[in-house]
Amino acid sequence: MTIHEKAMAKEPTFRESVDLMFNRAVALMDLPPGLEEKIRVCNATYTVRFGVRLRGQITTFTGYRSVHSDHMEPVKGGIRFATGVNQDEVEALAALMTYKCALVEAPFGGSKGGLCLDPREYDEAEMELITRRFAYELAKRDMINPAQNVPAPDMGTGEREMAWIADQYARMNTTDINAKACVTGKPLNSGGISGRVEATGRGVQYALKEFFRHPEDVKKAGMSGTLEGKRIVVQGLGNVGYHAAKFLHEEDGAVIVGIIERDGGLWADEGLNIDAVHDWIMRHGGVAGFPEGTHIDQGALLFEDECDILIPAAIEGVINLTNADKIKAKLIIEAANGPVTYGADEILRKKGVVIIPDMYANAGGVTVSYFEWVKNLSHIRFGRMQRRQEEARHQLVVDELDRIVAAVPGNMSLSPGFKDKYLRGADELELVRSGLDDTMRIAYQSMREVWHERPEVEDLRVAAYLVAIDRVAASYRAKGL
Ligand code: GLU
Repeated sequence: MTIHEKAMAKEPTFRESVDLMFNRAVALMDLPPGLEEKIRVCNATYTVRFGVRLRGQITTFTGYRSVHSDHMEPVKGGIRFATGVNQDEVEALAALMTYKCALVEAPFGGSKGGLCLDPREYDEAEMELITRRFAYELAKRDMINPAQNVPAPDMGTGEREMAWIADQYARMNTTDINAKACVTGKPLNSGGISGRVEATGRGVQYALKEFFRHPEDVKKAGMSGTLEGKRIVVQGLGNVGYHAAKFLHEEDGAVIVGIIERDGGLWADEGLNIDAVHDWIMRHGGVAGFPEGTHIDQGALLFEDECDILIPAAIEGVINLTNADKIKAKLIIEAANGPVTYGADEILRKKGVVIIPDMYANAGGVTVSYFEWVKNLSHIRFGRMQRRQEEARHQLVVDELDRIVAAVPGNMSLSPGFKDKYLRGADELELVRSGLDDTMRIAYQSMREVWHERPEVEDLRVAAYLVAIDRVAASYRAKGL
């Protein structure tokens, strides 16, 4: 056994880690006996094994859909395609979905699914066959259903898979007028919503912006000022990591000094060009050979380098007992689900590192999924009715301002660009971003209130659990349970 394996042997599983974090929070609550367990445990996990004829022979696949809590329906959560998928993992992820939805007030219970396969091993036609068959297996048991269980993308899946799932469900339910709402994260032409692809990364950006609006919190993390010039290391330049890094650099002036990928890491003190690195990964499958910055074979070592903010944006358990004490970042924002293990969390807390927890940090995805689901049920694009009316009313104000400005002696005029900006009514993308920004701000404020007002609450993770569990408990109580 290597040192790493020995240390890892001491770590709880992902699901146990989530449960232990849950326990830390409920210890500070006064829940009626039994309710605590009812909320913690996973309601049901469905395992399905199905065969698909590929390349002349039948290949058997194993998939899961776990429902952690159906205190609200539909239940919500992504479907992951990865070789590491297992029951423990989907149950941990389903539990996080329950708390995540409660925290950002998305009216859903928590669920998650997974299919054990490496999507890179199959071509598009094969992936379609496999995905449709998995969708069929889930839909026939109402585990894909607009009113009961609404999947979404996760690791290894995206718009393409969601379009196949939506179509598969529609074929099986030809008279369901709400069929499109059976899954979110669809392409725009199949009932998707603008801004869903960038949503999780955008949410990470909005979360950090909100954090930096509170100097007291920034101080707790041993920093000051704004995001401008802050040095960031991102692990995983997939959909979430890429968008978060891109927006934080382009819009907030943060410097992405390090990127950790499967095949190694990149470092550049002056900052990396995110689009160029992302392009390179898309074309070459990894960061090796990228012409700028320094390449490091053992990418994970960059976790231990000097930076202000660390953004783990790939898989669970990457910050664990083997590296937690070597981490120098002052702030960790969990863009992935469960990137910090229970043990590592304890070490980091003692070191004074502030962690913005996953259930909040990556909730942008499900928040915009909620908007997409509502759009599908209402059968109309956001803004379609109001946009031109809004523009007409703004035109009235601009005309009036023009009239007043012209009447005032002197050379007054409206500032350049004002008219264009003010006159334009909001389109769907702007409305989605506004709804997401508002959600991320409000959810952060609800967490920080608990964090600051209750001395026994040491960290944002416990604060997040307290807010979420309280809401789930209230919902159970309202049902008379
Ligand atoms: N898979 C994403 C998550 O972990 C999105 C879930 C959803 O949109 O339902 O939050």
